[in-house]
Formats: sequence, structure tokens, C-alpha cells
Amino acid sequence: MVHSTPIQTTQQEICLDDIRSDKRQLPVTGRAKKRLHRRRLLKNAWIVVQLYKWPWRILRVLNQLRLRRNALAGAANVHKLVCVEGQHLWRLHLPPWESPKFDRFVHSELQRIQAHDSHADRLALAHLAITKKCPLRCEHCFEWDNLNKPEALTTSDIDTMVDNLLSVGTANIAFSGGEPMLRVHEIVNTVRRCRDESQFWVLTSGFNFTAAHAKSLKEAGLMGVVVSIDDLSPDKHDAFRGKPGSFKDALEAVKHAMDQGLVTAISTCVTRDKANLQYLRAFMDFAKDLGVGFVQLLEPKPVGHYALQDVLLREPELRAMEECFLSCNADDAYREHPIVIYHGYYQRRVGCLAAGNLGVYVDTNGDFMSCPFCHKKNGSLLSSDFEQSLNDLEAMGCDSYGQFGLS
Ligand code: SF4
Repeated sequence: MVHSTPIQTTQQEICLDDIRSDKRQLPVTGRAKKRLHRRRLLKNAWIVVQLYKWPWRILRVLNQLRLRRNALAGAANVHKLVCVEGQHLWRLHLPPWESPKFDRFVHSELQRIQAHDSHADRLALAHLAITKKCPLRCEHCFEWDNLNKPEALTTSDIDTMVDNLLSVGTANIAFSGGEPMLRVHEIVNTVRRCRDESQFWVLTSGFNFTAAHAKSLKEAGLMGVVVSIDDLSPDKHDAFRGKPGSFKDALEAVKHAMDQGLVTAISTCVTRDKANLQYLRAFMDFAKDLGVGFVQLLEPKPVGHYALQDVLLREPELRAMEECFLSCNADDAYREHPIVIYHGYYQRRVGCLAAGNLGVYVDTNGDFMSCPFCHKKNGSLLSSDFEQSLNDLEAMGCDSYGQFGLS
């Protein structure tokens, strides 16, 4: 374990033992994982049989489904699951394997492989940036140009945007900002109203993510929380985030989320100085010590506050990211570590999955963008012809991940 002693900062002393939740989100591996995996594969096969009927079609689709999963997972196997309140998750922003929503996810994946007549979601994930307000000043903020300007979206706009997303089928909706917790009451109401139709998430810096708010969100039906922690050093994190006390806020948010049994992930922006195996492994030890289910590795992009800056990771740094992703998810030495999510890995192999394809980003004006990091705008989610804008965005595509060609 790291940090079992207090973390010393210039501002304060943070004792991790006081701030760690007892409800750890433990990885499931070995025989228990195999049992669950077999059960899930049988369920998937049954869905395929029901949808495609003919043996040769069934076999072909099952094989394509396996190849697609391997391409996205970066491995020919599912090595671990995360257990949260007795439910098992394989990836962030996917439903637990036991949930009927996972069956719906399989229907949607199959629709992309070979069209069928059953219901399928158009989008797997939509990020909704619902506020321009934020008390932080992060180095990498992609909404920088919109930050702390007069709010463009009313409560009724948020309702309309969510309803529009649900009308085309959207499996996951993640609220971001600005700091979305500044509109926590609207989030609670929306989640309570629409919890049966989608899974809802909050992406937060930890600001205003109090124990009481975590409880209200859980009771409303929120699925999970992604908290940003951008450095192992509290002082460096606070400097990166432009607000003293942010590291402590983030740790407390992690604890409150886990105490409520919300699926909890840490998201971290890995800048060049941190994109090495020594740092990344220390970060994974820290995440394991906190007991979170997932760690999401983000690459810095020259947009927003980083616009025109030379921040893109270079090849040796990308290789370190990939090695961390692969080893932490598959090697025996990391059996007890959280699952790593690294979009850069599979996007470089299977192409961009956002841009109206599987996912989309909606900015603080309600406008569509390919993803938080590609600021190609196309139409508004508030418009009556939003579906056409989504189709156009998908047709435009995105080639941002073609440039490195790692294999
Ligand atoms: S990245 Fe998020 S938390 Fe940081 S300034 Fe931007 S909106 Fe605020």
C-alpha cells in the first residue's frame, strides 16, 4: 500500500486512512471471474440465437462479436471484473453483466455488426456539459473558452436535451461542465425521472460532491461517478487544477461515492512528465489503495486551455501508457488493481468511436461536438433536426487517432 501514512502538503495534512471508504470496489479474477464470464457468454449466445435464427448467421455473428470485444479490450480475454454491490462490471460506462441493460447493450452492439429488427441504442455514451460555472482553473480544461460566462442552458433545456438523447436511444449519459455538481439538484431530478431509460454518471473535480449530495444522487438512481485526480502529489494536483484544496475535495468525493455504492472511477490527465511506467504504476497502487473500481487514463490535447501548446504525448510516452493499460488489466501482479480504461489504445486500432458513432459530446451551449477533445461543432441537441446533425457528425468522422499508428 502507498500513502498509509499521512500525505503531507504545504497547506494541510491529509490522512488517507481517514478518507478511505470501507466499501472497496474489488476486482474479481480467477475461477469466480470465469464462472461469471461463462454465464455472460451463454446469455450473449442466447440473444444471438434469438435474433439471427440460422446456424451459419449465428456462428458468424458470434465470431464478429468476439473480435469486436477483443479489439476494444486490447486482449483476447476478459481478465477481471469489478464488483460493486454484488453486480459485476467489465468496463466503465457499460451496465453490470447481470443487468437487463447489458442485454440491451449486446442488442446494440449486434445491430452495429449485423442489422436486426429488435431495439438498439443509437449511442453508447453522451457527455452533456450542463454548466459554464466552475471554481477551478485547470491546466488542461477543454471548456476553457466557455468557462464562467453567463449560463446558456436552462433547466428546461437540460430536460429537452436528455429527452432528445433518449428518443434515439442513449445507453449512458454523463453530466460534465464546468463543474456539474453546481447543478446537482437538476441532475438529481433528471436521473430520478429517466433512470429506467439510461444509465447516468457525473464527471466531477470533487467540488460540492458532499456526503449528502452523494446520497441524493444514489437514491435518485445515479450509476457512477468519475472523479479527476491529476497527480499523486496533492500540491501538484492543486497547482494543475488551479485551486488549493482540490486534491482533498477529490479524495472526499471518491469516499462519498464509494460509501453510497456508486461505481467509482478516477480519471487522470497524464502529461508528458508523468507518462512513464514508474509514475503510472505508483498511480495504480494509489488507486488500488483507495479501492476504486476503475482508473481512466486521459491524454492531454491542444484544445481549450492547452490550445496551441505542444502537449501531445510522443511515441515513448504512448508506449508507456499502453503498457500500463495492458499489464494492469491482464498481469497476475496487478490482479487486485482497478481496471484501467484507456481510450487512446483502442481508438488507435479501431478508429474514433465518438463523433456521433458510439458517443458524442454536447458543450455548454447545447452544441454537438465529436468528443470533449475534438472541437468540431455540428448542430445543436436542442434543435428539432438534432438527429440529422448527429448523422452528419458521424459522416464527417474523426481522424485524430490515425497519426501515431501504434500497433
Ligand atoms: S477541467 Fe473541469 S474542473 Fe477544471 S476548470 Fe475545466 S470545467 Fe473546471
